[in-house]
Amino acid sequence: MSNYSAPVQDMDFVLQHIVNVGQLQAHDAFGHVDPADMAGLLDEAGRFFSEVVAPTNRTGDIQGSQRNPDGTVTTPDGIAEAYQKLVEAGWGAIAFDPEYGGGGFPIVIGLAVQEMLTSANMGFSLCPLLTQGAVHLLAEHASEEQKLTWVPKMVSGEWTGTMNLTEPQAGSDVGALTAKAVRNDDGSYAITGQKIFITWGDHDVAENIVHLVLARTADAPPGTKGISVFIVPKFLLNDDGTPGEANSLECVSLEHKLGIHCSPTAVMAFEGATGYLIGEEQTGMRSMFTMMNSARLSVGLEGLAVAERAYQLAVQYSFDRTQGGRPGLAKGEAAPIVEHPDVRRMLITMKAYIEAMRALCYLNAKAMDDAHHAADAEARAAGQELAEVLTPLSKAWCTDLGNELTSLGVQVHGGMGFVEETGAAQHYRDIRIGAIYEGTNGIQAIDLIGRKLPIRDGAAVGELLDQTQAYAEALGGDLASLTKPLVDGVSACRESSAWLLTNRGDAALAGATPYLRLLSTVVAGGLMAKGAAVAHAELTDGATGDRAEFLSQKIVTASFFIEQLVPAQLGLMPSIMSGNDVLANFHPVV
Ligand SMILES: Cc1cc2nc3c(=O)[nH]c(=O)nc-3n(C[C@H](O)[C@H](O)[C@H](O)COP(=O)(O)OP(=O)(O)OC[C@H]3O[C@@H](n4cnc5c(N)ncnc54)[C@H](O)[C@@H]3O)c2cc1C
Repeated sequence: MSNYSAPVQDMDFVLQHIVNVGQLQAHDAFGHVDPADMAGLLDEAGRFFSEVVAPTNRTGDIQGSQRNPDGTVTTPDGIAEAYQKLVEAGWGAIAFDPEYGGGGFPIVIGLAVQEMLTSANMGFSLCPLLTQGAVHLLAEHASEEQKLTWVPKMVSGEWTGTMNLTEPQAGSDVGALTAKAVRNDDGSYAITGQKIFITWGDHDVAENIVHLVLARTADAPPGTKGISVFIVPKFLLNDDGTPGEANSLECVSLEHKLGIHCSPTAVMAFEGATGYLIGEEQTGMRSMFTMMNSARLSVGLEGLAVAERAYQLAVQYSFDRTQGGRPGLAKGEAAPIVEHPDVRRMLITMKAYIEAMRALCYLNAKAMDDAHHAADAEARAAGQELAEVLTPLSKAWCTDLGNELTSLGVQVHGGMGFVEETGAAQHYRDIRIGAIYEGTNGIQAIDLIGRKLPIRDGAAVGELLDQTQAYAEALGGDLASLTKPLVDGVSACRESSAWLLTNRGDAALAGATPYLRLLSTVVAGGLMAKGAAVAHAELTDGATGDRAEFLSQKIVTASFFIEQLVPAQLGLMPSIMSGNDVLANFHPVV
């Protein structure tokens, strides 16, 4: 059965050398963050998640969360206890604002810890993930009084948060939602409507649930413009701030799903429930975007985290399982399957993509830290722009890869991957949702070509490609062979970016998904090149022992990524630049 060991050495390497977390010390908010302490902190977190949370993964899947006849929801055995330990240990709070009881660490450090939480149990991780998104929204858009009332308990984890957007007729098109909000005499609102697919919509792990609900006030215009956002708690608060009377809302059912069984996915009915407006009426979509951006990176991280766990399982199996001969073995003797080149190809594909995803997601988070805390306005704007460009890449590329790599994890197991007892199948089932929720990956690709690529007429993406090219061209000596494939990738991105900027409408929409794939792979290739250069320099300086082995493996995976995975994506060019004619001429028939 699957154990989990946090890949602390690689996390630390990415933090120190690829995203240069030390630069954050220059920001007033992070003067206390000493990069030299990171490995110790990650070690401690890794022990917690592998010992306390990872063992709940299988039970969570097998038992699933259940709705009881009395309408309450019970989570699988061990989940409430693990959650309580998480709250006590405070790992969920490390990247929140100290003003509300958080640890004051950068988002990028919080993200590394979140990677471990998600690898340990993805279904469980969604509870703190949604709470985190809700805290970000409240911290940016709620009144001071609302912040003081709700945020500290959510930061500590004593109360959890949810995000209520989706309705049966309003999925990707959030603007189609019809939940109603009617103003009461006391300034609160009565919220009525049904929301579907609400993650951790009800449960038994915390004493209150703070639902953030999108609804329309009277006379609101149609579409996203008319949406407002409300705090709708499961339990209304007593005068002393403790949870009291139950609000008029209930979980009417839980979905039966392909994966993440631990996570209760609820149909929620609001029947005149008391809600408190956040900000002004009809500014709900703007507020929700704060939550969605943080949640989109977190969902992208799921692709990385679940692939990491699937990789660890596959490696372990490949040493245990013997099958088939190898040159040098006596007739009739079988080799561990890890010795077969085709199995090694699967494993290195997993490993190389995992390292590349880690670099991309952490860079995305570091850009968010710069956007919030850099000293001068220009640096904050640059961080914001980079985060905006990278977020659809992190979300869609990493969850697509999560699907592909967990599938490879099943493949490494052969038939034992298809049966449930090894755990490989659970990872494959769990991560499937990553490409769907938080804006489907198709919607991410549309966001990339529709909103992000046009920033400064393509210059934001262009500068990211300039940086990638600089990493490629800086490689020399033993790494010189990596320059050309990466520069070719950059050229392909430049050509397709220019094409998409001049061919708009359906022609561009038709090429959005392959473009996101190409751009993500090339940008991540640049980060792998940067890592290889650092590893090479440290080896040249005389690194020894475990460190030398780790560094030389960084060069192996970067070489595989740049020489074999990047060039394969250039085959996407015709898909990006062929326009919509063939798709329009296609007539699907049932
Ligand atoms: C397990 C789970 C948990 C969830 N958690 C939450 C939650 O906590 N809160 C919440 O509010 N929601 C939640 N959701 C809802 C989720 O965000 C939606 O399912 C998702 O946004 C897609 O909407 P939809 O299911 O209606 O699909 P649809 O919008 O019907 O999409 C169907 C297909 O059409 C494509 N498509 C749709 N519109 C376009 C377009 N304009 N251009 C191109 N392609 C398009 C999509 O990419 C997709 O492939 C959850 C869903 C699940 C399954």
